[in-house]
Amino acid sequence: MDRLPTPDNCTFQGRRALIRVDFNVPLDKNTGLVKDDTRIRASLPTIRKVIDEGGSVILMSHLGRPKGKRDDKYSLRPVYQCLKGLLDCEILMVNDCIGPEVEAAAQSLKPGQVLLLENLRFYPEEEQGDRAFASKLADLGDVYVNDAFGAAHRAHASTAVVAGFFPTDRKCFGYLMAAEINNANRVLHQFTRPFTAIIGGAKVSDKILVLQRLLELADNVLIGGGMAYTFFKALGGNVGNSLCEEDRLETARQLLDTAQSKGVNLLLPQDSVTASAFSNDANISICPSHQISSGYMALDIGPQAREEFRRVIISSHTVLWNGPLGVFEFENFQEGTRAIAEAVAEATSRGAFSLVGGGDSVAAVNRFGLAERISFVSTGGGALLEYFEGKTLPGVAAILNLNA
Ligand code: AMP
Repeated sequence: MDRLPTPDNCTFQGRRALIRVDFNVPLDKNTGLVKDDTRIRASLPTIRKVIDEGGSVILMSHLGRPKGKRDDKYSLRPVYQCLKGLLDCEILMVNDCIGPEVEAAAQSLKPGQVLLLENLRFYPEEEQGDRAFASKLADLGDVYVNDAFGAAHRAHASTAVVAGFFPTDRKCFGYLMAAEINNANRVLHQFTRPFTAIIGGAKVSDKILVLQRLLELADNVLIGGGMAYTFFKALGGNVGNSLCEEDRLETARQLLDTAQSKGVNLLLPQDSVTASAFSNDANISICPSHQISSGYMALDIGPQAREEFRRVIISSHTVLWNGPLGVFEFENFQEGTRAIAEAVAEATSRGAFSLVGGGDSVAAVNRFGLAERISFVSTGGGALLEYFEGKTLPGVAAILNLNA
């Protein structure tokens, strides 16, 4: 891919930049305030660039799943409050994302001002990728900027369709989205060997395509989390009550065969921490992953697996990690995920390039205080996985005038 168009390639002076951001942030259940402002902070460099150049900014985002209806529970008002504390320019908010009130506010916006629109998903047309709705959004701005990598795999009105209303020299990626694509490309296309991919999480079915792609590229593929036990079952092991997708046993066998025929070192966790129930307080024992007693379920990788995985990771030059290695939400089953997070950080200190993506793995590196020691922590979950699967993301295609 050629150099990506960023705000450095557009002119903003005296113009209104319509920026699609990902402000889908967690809210505190009690106070209703923004609980984690990481995504809001991540959008600031792009906003500041427009303001510093003498332009004005119109921000649009979704929040949660209001299912196409106005619902105050999903209002972006808390984001507005948060934004006011982060930016020292004038910030306004309107109660809608299209319509006369919004048009008037956009028209009267002065250089240096920021206008936040209300939740795009209050309209079903947003997720439907409706052209008329996208056209109304497009009318609000002179330049379109997409900085919402987390939503780039959706062909929604604000993420993809709207871009069609702007000429090439009036649309670009925001800095965050450009960094996401460049770093993903570095892992996909410019990696140095040994390349190790660590894939965890609940289900094989969610990760088949990405595993297939990684078996084409990586030297080592380490599999952990609930999905590992479908592989053990496919190999004839006993997995007790562990998570297991009976309808994916054949897929697991095929993936194991592919790894073998391509000479890829596909590693499963040789031992597991098992529990008598899906609970932090359950009885715990450690056993080989292919010999789990009935009545027990594997909720984390065991100490031998942690050590084996660690050795592979720290001797790698490129590391990709998606998905937790166990039920890390429970304190008693977080050690596998912690060990992997530490190993990825250690590999990075030794000079490896590391990319961590997916909500849970990112939450893990943050919880263990290791985010600063990872080369790039992605804000994309589904979008990142689809990018690694080799799909052209609609949000990316729309800026580059490609067919998705
Ligand atoms: P995913 O969204 O596919 O990356 O899956 C993340 C979820 O997988 C997290 O909520 C973990 O608690 C869960 N998970 C990880 N390991 C296991 C396991 N051994 N058994 C059940 N769930 C797991």
